[in-house]
Amino acid sequence: MSKTKLGIIGGSGLYEIEGLKNIQEVRVKTPFGNPSAPYISGKIGDVEVCFLPRHGAGHVFSPTEINYQANIYGFKKLGVNTLISFSAVGSMKKNIKPGDFVIVDQFIDRTRYRKSTFFEGGCVAHVSLADPVCPSLKKVLSQSISTSGISLHDRGTYICIEGPQFSTRAESHLYQSWGVDVIGMTNLPEARLAREAELCYGSVAQVTDYDCWNEEHDAVDAGTVLKVIKQNVHYAKQAIQKIVLDPRLRGDDKGKIGDDFSKKCTCRKALQFAIVSNRVSLSKETQKKLDLFLKKNKKG
Ligand SMILES: [Zn+2]
Repeated sequence: MSKTKLGIIGGSGLYEIEGLKNIQEVRVKTPFGNPSAPYISGKIGDVEVCFLPRHGAGHVFSPTEINYQANIYGFKKLGVNTLISFSAVGSMKKNIKPGDFVIVDQFIDRTRYRKSTFFEGGCVAHVSLADPVCPSLKKVLSQSISTSGISLHDRGTYICIEGPQFSTRAESHLYQSWGVDVIGMTNLPEARLAREAELCYGSVAQVTDYDCWNEEHDAVDAGTVLKVIKQNVHYAKQAIQKIVLDPRLRGDDKGKIGDDFSKKCTCRKALQFAIVSNRVSLSKETQKKLDLFLKKNKKG
């Protein structure tokens, strides 16, 4: 059992977390460029935590501009193996109200300009994405957040749009007819890359608005969204304490996160049979770029 760390990615409004002790700012260099910001590493209780605001300090990167490859690579390089994403979303269903939290378990991709794989430049890998979030982590998130008094939906399909504009009314009605639960702009590239990086990934979506399909409510605008975000962030910070200190996440062995549930999911073995390219023919450059992933998965 190796000592591991929990990663937390904060979305709109969540630029820091509370209760973090022994704080260190860690700048990580990656072969995919710079992460959105330095990682904030420290401890909550006796659990090691690394935090990254996905939009950067001062919210400077749009969903399209975020370097998802560098962000996820950075977590991997820091030894994180369990990654929880927090993000603001719109609701696509009446019963999912602003202020509610949704534990996302499926995605539909409507992005166009995202780099969503590490495997390029002569090395091809096909990981399974049938269940894009870690089933064990999802369970822990649902159970720990449900004890914090937040109105919670323990499953949901997230449609990931390119943005940065919100949807047109026609798009919003179309997505609704597909049966999706929430709409956002950032989570799917993260889920794809986290799977390739063999991290257990979980997503907590915080509802800010009804997008624009719900005629009973005003169409979404950034001003209204920001007000709800403020309130959601307050609850997210509380939820993080519950999640991090949940004994089911930590396992029996104090400070060793996920040793228990990692045995019950396959996220950390996602690359085992996924790499189809012949390693011998890989260029030195690609080999170096992907070393973090290839050295553990030597066969293929
Ligand atoms: Zn997992």
